[in-house]
Amino acid sequence: MANLLWRQIQRENFTDWKKLLTFLQLDETDAESIILTRSQFSLNVPKRLVQKISKGKWEDPILRQFLPTLEELKPSPLFVLDPVADGASRKKPKLLHKYHGRALLICTSACAMHCRYCFRQHFDYETSDKLFREELNEIANETSLSEVLLSGGDPLSLSDMQLGNLLSALNAIPHIKRIRFHTRFPIGIPERIDPSFLNLLKSCSKQVIFVIHCNHPNEFDEEIFQKLKEIQQLGIPVLSQSVLLRGVNDRVETLKELFLLLTDHGIMPYYLHQLDRVQGATHFEVSEREGKWLMEELGNLLPGYAIPKYVREVPNQPKKTPIY
Ligand code: SF4
Repeated sequence: MANLLWRQIQRENFTDWKKLLTFLQLDETDAESIILTRSQFSLNVPKRLVQKISKGKWEDPILRQFLPTLEELKPSPLFVLDPVADGASRKKPKLLHKYHGRALLICTSACAMHCRYCFRQHFDYETSDKLFREELNEIANETSLSEVLLSGGDPLSLSDMQLGNLLSALNAIPHIKRIRFHTRFPIGIPERIDPSFLNLLKSCSKQVIFVIHCNHPNEFDEEIFQKLKEIQQLGIPVLSQSVLLRGVNDRVETLKELFLLLTDHGIMPYYLHQLDRVQGATHFEVSEREGKWLMEELGNLLPGYAIPKYVREVPNQPKKTPIY
């Protein structure tokens, strides 16, 4: 029953740009010169997030993250289909192994929302096998691993039954000590964190780490923090990661507000990512020079624990590369 509620809420997502414009009181006559009406990476944004967008404002920082625009067609040889070389680290159809001791499981292709700057928007997802047999065998045989990252897509798109089976299988592998969730679900559909999901986390015998993806303070509300608190109360650290995005969070005041808001709710800002140069996302890029300046300014305003690491992912490197 609980599962049905969040699935039902998910069905209310906006996937039709005309309906979105009507709801936001945006003029359809302007749309022709702004909106990319057909895209393989479709419009998909939860109603809850749409309700936080200012009416009549094309440049709203939440809208900018989700609205397909003609800017996506701007070509650049530097912006490619697989900017972080996921393909080169694909050990099994759903398993990436890039860094020492950690492997990333592509749990699903589905997300709570479609972020226009997503570096995995062109990823060739394998969706036929739902049981992760090959991947779990590889994890069990690779004793150098101590952590599995559940990513995707968004791991919270899986049903509790699928997640439960996956967690049980990982629980049974002795050398795996930590399971890390990477999710944007709480931002769009916090109802996903329901008693049934919390019970799954509780049943996990490994240390769980929960990393949320958020980019702007307007994405939050008290209910979201309440849900995250329920996770924290299980002894699970909640961290955040954000992407530095032009027109979304490229101002000192915005980043300051975001990182303080997180810190005040016990969520530790973990990473601020330089944009991965994925095809279709040129308009989101903030230069590293500007990024360093922003970090310098934040250093003057915030305690060190409230400042995330500013990093970029350089393909085929054994770790994230620090920028500042
Ligand atoms: S939620 Fe994450 S994986 Fe899904 S589209 Fe957004 S950035 Fe990409």
